[in-house]
Amino acid sequence: MYFQMLLWAFLLLTPPLRGQSPVEVKWKEDPKTGQVVYTASCTSPGLYSIEVDVQMKGLQSDHPLPLRVVKWGPFEPTEILRLTPKNQSVGYSSRSMYTISQGDIWNVHPDTEQIYWLPMEPHRDVLISQGFKGRGSHRGDYAIDLTVPQGTPVTAARGGWVIDLKEDNDRGCSSMRCMKYANYILIQHADGTIGNYVHLQQDGALVDIGDQVVAGQLIGKSGNTGWSSGPHLHFDVSIPAGLNRRTIPFQILDPSGKAVTPKEGIPYSRPDPAVIDH
Ligand SMILES: [Zn+2]
Repeated sequence: MYFQMLLWAFLLLTPPLRGQSPVEVKWKEDPKTGQVVYTASCTSPGLYSIEVDVQMKGLQSDHPLPLRVVKWGPFEPTEILRLTPKNQSVGYSSRSMYTISQGDIWNVHPDTEQIYWLPMEPHRDVLISQGFKGRGSHRGDYAIDLTVPQGTPVTAARGGWVIDLKEDNDRGCSSMRCMKYANYILIQHADGTIGNYVHLQQDGALVDIGDQVVAGQLIGKSGNTGWSSGPHLHFDVSIPAGLNRRTIPFQILDPSGKAVTPKEGIPYSRPDPAVIDH
């Protein structure tokens, strides 16, 4: 005798993806054994964290709860959890919910000493047209906008793994309603933080999901897609938090190799690797 099971989903995805999780968790009861089997599937490439928590009566789980799985997509429906009735002749019930996040959210320990490279080729003077908590689109965010022509090479500000990207959009406008058309690359760093490179031109990602990249490596071409009032590159660093990602402050190297907080209205250029390695 099995009572109605409720399965709630909470999607923790970045704005371009919110509400369209490629990961799905389903459950099914085996009428013979009474076992309840949970499966997860994923239709898109990328790294995802899946958490399933179950409140249950008269059942035992084959994994400690909440269950936490970190998995690279895409993948076919895969069993992740099995609940077994302690005694089938006695009533049992469960109520569960699952949460999907991008990246490995259980391995986030931000390194506050980390210094980032300007995500541009060395010796290119680039204006920071909007800085941390800027009055345009960055109100609550630690992010920088770099004014650069479309097609400008974009380099990794820090090494890591490409966990998601979008590059098939060709539209942009100066309204929030265009946010969903943004092309971007997400790179997860060793401390679990995520670098976000946005507004890339169509087919402007020069890496693939799953690639490991090093700081300074060419990863894409800038553009004007998404919520953008002119060609530029948006870059931020964030950690997964609540129903979104939360951006955090970061420092970049100035031309002399000194770590500074990037300031709005000031041009910067990335020192060459000889200065950086110094
Ligand atoms: Zn921006």
